[in-house]
Amino acid sequence: MQLKIYNSLSGEKEIFRPILEGNVGMYVCGPTVYSNVHLGNVRTFLSFDFIYRSLTFLGYKVRYVRNITDAGHLTDDGNVENDRFVKQSRLEKLEPMEIVQKYTVDFHEVLKKFNLLPPTIEPTATGHIIEQIELTRKLIDKGFAYESNGSVYFDVLEYNKRGLNYGELSRRNIEELFANTRDLDGQDEKKNPQDFALWKKATPQHIMRWPSPWGDGFPGWHLECTAMSTKYLGDQFDIHGGGLDLKFPHHECEIAQGKACNEQSPVNYWMHANMLTMNGQRMSKSTGNYILPMQLITGKNDFFEKAFHPSVLRFCFLQAHYRSVLDISNEAMLASEKGFTRLMESVKLLDNISVSNTSSIDIKGWYDKVIAALTDDFNSPILIAHLFEAVKWIFLLNENKETITSDDLNFLKEKLNALVFDVLGLQNIEESNHEKLDEAIQLLIELRNQARKSKNWELSDQIRDRLLEKGIELKDGREGTTYSIS
Ligand code: AMP
Ligand code: ZN
Repeated sequence: MQLKIYNSLSGEKEIFRPILEGNVGMYVCGPTVYSNVHLGNVRTFLSFDFIYRSLTFLGYKVRYVRNITDAGHLTDDGNVENDRFVKQSRLEKLEPMEIVQKYTVDFHEVLKKFNLLPPTIEPTATGHIIEQIELTRKLIDKGFAYESNGSVYFDVLEYNKRGLNYGELSRRNIEELFANTRDLDGQDEKKNPQDFALWKKATPQHIMRWPSPWGDGFPGWHLECTAMSTKYLGDQFDIHGGGLDLKFPHHECEIAQGKACNEQSPVNYWMHANMLTMNGQRMSKSTGNYILPMQLITGKNDFFEKAFHPSVLRFCFLQAHYRSVLDISNEAMLASEKGFTRLMESVKLLDNISVSNTSSIDIKGWYDKVIAALTDDFNSPILIAHLFEAVKWIFLLNENKETITSDDLNFLKEKLNALVFDVLGLQNIEESNHEKLDEAIQLLIELRNQARKSKNWELSDQIRDRLLEKGIELKDGREGTTYSIS
């Protein structure tokens, strides 16, 4: 097996050679938790969930770090007053850390609904202020950064003077960058317009602030990812991922910080996931062109004609390669639902197939093609196309129009189950319906307890008796109420 990964830094597919044989260190930029994630955000995280699952399936031990950005993320105009958390906390009349908590919980709940695996480490920016101050100090000591009016900036021209090539990832040259920079807040403090903040001085109104050698302030957004990735993965690690829109300036700045600090490029393989569009426009909160995950699942929206199971969205997303733009539409979701249902039916049918002495199908050849797709820069659409070859066989086997040996059938079962559930991360709708049933019964138990507390015996008995009529028996014990279904 030879895994190939498209490296945004070289612009080519490269053979993947991990730093430590059999191990992968992967960092993915996490969400800025100041509002609900939309389906576009979900697509990027899902792309990397698939990559994480694929690497694990291919036998790598993966340390997967995905951060939570909960400090120092300014809106595009770079104005300190427009710190996204501070702005949102004013709007919702909550503390900034309440905003952080509220939307971190939402983020986790959404990703769980879409069956994304949690990363192995999930650090927060606010939990790593000391590391960021330390990095800033190191960059000043090495002459790559300067203090100005209580803020600290990275000196891009100095970096380039030392032959370090700012712009190598986004392939921009520095003169062009200088010519195109708008006049942003803080410009008068900077030596050059492209210099970026490592540490920002807090104004008196700024609530999220920490003491530092340069006075009270907060860290720059780019620095947090350098601090957290290198802390948990080392000064140089294997893979860094994020949405394509983060390539510049965020990832460009991360490279500059890493190289300036440690005299080596921080990341061997840069991976960028492409955008989700709707009506041909990038999905985005700021333009209003977005759908929230719960709107998709409940069907409460004006865009889709019906509600969709989260696994159908997963399937829809994975039918496009992570580097391609995907335009979401009602038709695409309906088609994905059809495909998903057929795939699930075939997985179920596998238990009823009878075996023969010979196989009329080449299972090992099929599996080689599956692995070839997976190792070709995680090509999920080709992988799914191969899965449908197997689906076709399964339906034919079920009608005794093809034959399969017992060994081949076991092999097919094992691999298909692993690919569908572990690698694609799809979930059986029937199984998730069981979970929903459990939640509904727990809800009725809770309502019955409330009725009993208020001595509404009539209602509490009614709940118990009518559930019993449906074959659901409630049992009251010392540990609370349990139930059994007959
Ligand atoms: P943010 O919380 O704004 O930093 O965004 C979280 C992640 O979602 C980033 O990796 C973005 O690149 C990604 N993202 C934002 N909009 C889209 C979109 N329309 N399609 C795919 N990914 C997106
Ligand atoms: Zn980042």
